[in-house]
Amino acid sequence: AVHALKDENCPILISPSLVSLDLPDVWASNPNPHDFPSAHKCSNEQNAAIIDGKSMAEEIMSRIAFEVKRMKESIGKVPGLAVIMHLDEAKILDVLSLEKDVDGFHPVNMGNLALRGREPLFIPCTPKGCIELLIRSGVEIMGKRAVVIGRSNIVGLPTSLLLQRHHATVSIIHAFTKNPEQITCEADIVITAAGVPNLVRGNWLKPGAIVIDVGTNPIEDPSCEHGYRLRGDVFYEEAVRVASLITPVPGGVGPMTIAMLLSNTLDSAKHAYDFT
Ligand code: NAD
Repeated sequence: AVHALKDENCPILISPSLVSLDLPDVWASNPNPHDFPSAHKCSNEQNAAIIDGKSMAEEIMSRIAFEVKRMKESIGKVPGLAVIMHLDEAKILDVLSLEKDVDGFHPVNMGNLALRGREPLFIPCTPKGCIELLIRSGVEIMGKRAVVIGRSNIVGLPTSLLLQRHHATVSIIHAFTKNPEQITCEADIVITAAGVPNLVRGNWLKPGAIVIDVGTNPIEDPSCEHGYRLRGDVFYEEAVRVASLITPVPGGVGPMTIAMLLSNTLDSAKHAYDFT
């Protein structure tokens, strides 16, 4: 892993949640861009339109595939991506080249994200994906009241910083917050990354709120192939009746996280090869 870190031609990330990423398949996909897919309603019992993160991510990945093809044809190079696990995160971040930090976790990238007037080389993939989902769904972030549930280094904290960059008024809820529902019920946008299934009930939400559910929590279910199914932080069946827009789990933030990771990796490779 440390050799890989020193290889100037290999973009690197640290991303334990993404080890199942099937990179060759993604990058071999059809490179024909198509129009942005829109959010859609599925049933008369719900108020919310569903944000189709999977389709939006596929559109981005087809553009990335197009760019990778162009790169290969022009300079004979393609981006490379390596995943580093089970090693001390702080030590790895210390030796990680800033230009290969495609997860955006390097303290310098994170610091630049926090500072006004500074630009990070890379923005963490899940937070960047949440903003992308909002923008592609036509949501105006500026001036909105946003609540982020969770303050982890990889999701909650950078998401709150990104929302501020987009001029939202941001509150952060964490495990020690008292009466979180009193804060969420005033929010136009709720982004939750707590890792607690069904935490956000319908009555936590302002009618018409926009809900981005980052949570991916395995729930035991013997009827499912692997003995469990994924559940978000949001009590979906309730929230869908109150919100105006909502992401499903799975099929919302997850695919967009992967698309943002590949987008960052492509940017890193373009920078490494001085390819525009
Ligand atoms: P984490 O455990 O590092 O952080 C959780 C945060 O939530 C903490 O800040 C904690 O204070 C807060 N929290 C915990 N319980 C809470 C409660 N009851 N009320 C309010 N806040 C509470 O987790 P993480 O790495 O940020 O991940 C969070 C969730 O997002 C997990 O379910 C994870 O699987 C998921 N995730 C999904 C993606 C994706 O691409 N979809 C990417 C990363 C993480």
